[in-house]
Amino acid sequence: MSQTLQAIRGMNDILPDDAELWEQFEELVRDWLDAYAYRPIRMPLVEPTPLFSRAIGEVTDIVEKEMYSFEDSLNGEQLTLRPEGTASCVRAVLQHNLLYEAPRRLWYMGPMFRHERPQKGRYRQFHQVGVEALGFAGPDVDAEQILMCQRLWDDLGLDGIRLEINSLGQPEERARHRADLIAYLSLHEARLDADGKRRLHTNPLRILDTKNPEMQDLVEAAPKLIDYLGAESLQHFEGVQAILKDACIPYKINPRLVRGLDYYNLTVFEWITDSLGAQGTVCAGGRYDGLVHQLGGKQAPACGFAMGVERLLALWKEQGHAHQRPAPDVYVVHQGAAAGRHAFRVAELLRDAGFAVHLHCGGGSFKSQMKKADGSGAVLAAIIGDDEAAADAVSLKPLRSEGDQRTVGREQVAEAAAEVIFGTEE
Ligand code: ATP
Ligand code: MG
Repeated sequence: MSQTLQAIRGMNDILPDDAELWEQFEELVRDWLDAYAYRPIRMPLVEPTPLFSRAIGEVTDIVEKEMYSFEDSLNGEQLTLRPEGTASCVRAVLQHNLLYEAPRRLWYMGPMFRHERPQKGRYRQFHQVGVEALGFAGPDVDAEQILMCQRLWDDLGLDGIRLEINSLGQPEERARHRADLIAYLSLHEARLDADGKRRLHTNPLRILDTKNPEMQDLVEAAPKLIDYLGAESLQHFEGVQAILKDACIPYKINPRLVRGLDYYNLTVFEWITDSLGAQGTVCAGGRYDGLVHQLGGKQAPACGFAMGVERLLALWKEQGHAHQRPAPDVYVVHQGAAAGRHAFRVAELLRDAGFAVHLHCGGGSFKSQMKKADGSGAVLAAIIGDDEAAADAVSLKPLRSEGDQRTVGREQVAEAAAEVIFGTEE
């Protein structure tokens, strides 16, 4: 006998109870983005590999080891399942010349793919809500993006997500810091772990981000990028902070917050919770003024962030948000061949009137069908037997209130159902 096939490790099925929770979340997210005048965009899941190596950086974790890349067997092109959305979004904006007239506020939501070690909060197919503001120099838009995150946490009723911010300055400022950082870390090379040694000359900034407890005091004492920022960068950073203070949003400046992708400059931020274990960053983003030009467009400033949907939903559930299973308005039970055909007509008629209808399929006694009707959470059962079919009528029985069962002609069924359903709601 053949073995049951399983999904790929780290790529999860989202079963109905959870899928309904996702839908509630997505609805909230859409309303929230509307409130900030962001417009949707949808990009393909597969892109040419060079898009990501150019945008994200050759020596980042993502490009070095996390991408699902393959060769198109028909034409030999190198392709990659998108590991994040910013590169695709900027590619689409440039390809369709969307920045021609005005800046753009855009968002997308969907699966991303990274070949990581699966664990709680870390999957190989995961989902992000991505938000990008293109053509804005900030610092107002940077601060607005941070503020809007706070509003989403409030909308979701989430507590305990703290904000950390930093400024990565400009490339020349980073270059001076990098030289000093390499000099400092080289002095202590023996204390670097394998990752640290590997990154020393390729991506030393990332060493500051290490989670290795044995290297904490070393990176704590390393030269801080913020001390290398010039007046303009500092002014931008202060501009962001002034708006955060006005909005009474608490934050911590974390000088070691560097982000895993190469394209960031100036403002970077992360929202972190302590209640999900090691994978506590639920949202991360920042400014990426160089990316549009780097991908072949005219110089255009930009700022964006991405939220990890799985992590946010885990937190939502943990903080007591219960999934609510939607119930149909009407459950139609029926027995007999003529009644079955009549039941179909009645169900469609009720749907025409806007009701959600569960038509019983698969037969069974009236008694067992009524049990299912009750279990479905429907407000009303529509009962159709031989008598109803012959009389072109329907018997309606309220399931959530005391009212009596009554029989009405087919023409009156929608109106009679409305009386019970809306009467029950009040
Ligand atoms: P981490 O340090 O946790 O690997 P990252 O810096 O790689 O995160 P980003 O590329 O900034 O993450 O992605 C933004 C958000 O997407 C993260 O803050 C997180 O919430 C979520 N995320 C990233 N990778 C994964 C993953 N493999 N599984 C689930 N969520 C993820
Ligand atoms: Mg990562």
